[in-house]
Amino acid sequence: MEASQKLQLFATQMYLEPAEDVDSRPIPINIRPKKEGLAGRAPQEVLPCGQVSSSRNIEAQRDSLGITEAVMPGGKRIKLLKTLLTSACERNCYYCPFRAGRDYRRATFKPDEMAQTFMNMYRAGLVEGLFLSSGIIKGGVATQDKLIETADILRHKLGFHGYVHLKIMPGSERDQVLRSMQLASRVSVNLEGPNTRRLQQLAPKKVFLEELLQPLKWVEEIRQIQRPNQTWNGRWPSSTTQFVVGAVGESDLELLTTSSHLYQQAGLSRTYFMAFNPVPGTPLENNPAENPWRQHRLYQASFLLRDYGFDLEDLPFDQDGHLPLVNDPKLAWALANLVQSPVEVNRANKEDLLRVPGIGPKGVHSILTARRHRKLRELQDLKALGVNPTRPAPYILLDGQRPPYQPRLL
Ligand code: SF4
Repeated sequence: MEASQKLQLFATQMYLEPAEDVDSRPIPINIRPKKEGLAGRAPQEVLPCGQVSSSRNIEAQRDSLGITEAVMPGGKRIKLLKTLLTSACERNCYYCPFRAGRDYRRATFKPDEMAQTFMNMYRAGLVEGLFLSSGIIKGGVATQDKLIETADILRHKLGFHGYVHLKIMPGSERDQVLRSMQLASRVSVNLEGPNTRRLQQLAPKKVFLEELLQPLKWVEEIRQIQRPNQTWNGRWPSSTTQFVVGAVGESDLELLTTSSHLYQQAGLSRTYFMAFNPVPGTPLENNPAENPWRQHRLYQASFLLRDYGFDLEDLPFDQDGHLPLVNDPKLAWALANLVQSPVEVNRANKEDLLRVPGIGPKGVHSILTARRHRKLRELQDLKALGVNPTRPAPYILLDGQRPPYQPRLL
């Protein structure tokens, strides 16, 4: 099979790996691969963010070689080739199109073939970075060796100095984690489930603590105790993980408890959430697809934990451990806590300002800088600082006064 045919084959399933995609909001079910027989909806669909998705755009992306627009850890946008070394796999994860024994056309790249194929695309201006994962053949260690070999060829034989996100396979050894980190810009291990019990329901051959969590902990341990002087660019890579959401009844509390732990203890840059969609020919094929709004709320909540100083206790879980779908979790917290006790923008500390809906880390920085020189008295003053005043207005005081605002019509 030609390299381009292999990439096209893999590309139909790469929506399963959100990676650094610019739009981590849910992909509507109707634009998932038709060959996989997923239920269709209308050709255009309004995403939870309110944006109308153009199926033509995303179909073009899907039908391509697996190239997506991606946002880098520093905010730069690049064209990222998301692909696999092989779609063959000896494991049997219940949700996965590549699971062993499933009737599915497989393809495999050799490391030098993958490296050369990517480099050809890079030189042609088609791509600027690589996200490389793989099915598992002959164990996680042997598969990781192939991923490392590919990255090694790219860095040291072909002289590629751009972005490489390397997946770390379940069961990889510590030395392999270290070598991957020396070659990659970002590494990740997919935990899939938030704990041992949920992983067993999703992927019975994976071992949560030893095979998945341990490599993520090694990444942070290596960053803490070793100097990055043998890395390709003199810096340690960032690390991320990904969860399958809604396939086996796990709660948002379970997912966010593990996310919070990983942010604090394993130095993770980000946790990705992928709303479950049943794949025909898998044990979970009759389970319902997860509501894409849930994925969206989980992202919002995880950012509150990571960037906004929220604790798990601050999040508005219901008695089953789920977040409300109707309001974003920051707004739900503000409705419960700030309506009667608004935040005085001219005196509040950074932590309290971050609790106000519509004010993010950049807005807080602008406010703290501006108020050293003058009092902020009107909503227009916030607008001048780049903060849209519509959302914060009900929850703030400006120089002791509640600003006028138009309540949102329901
Ligand atoms: S290990 Fe599991 S999730 Fe990964 S490719 Fe194999 S079956 Fe799919």
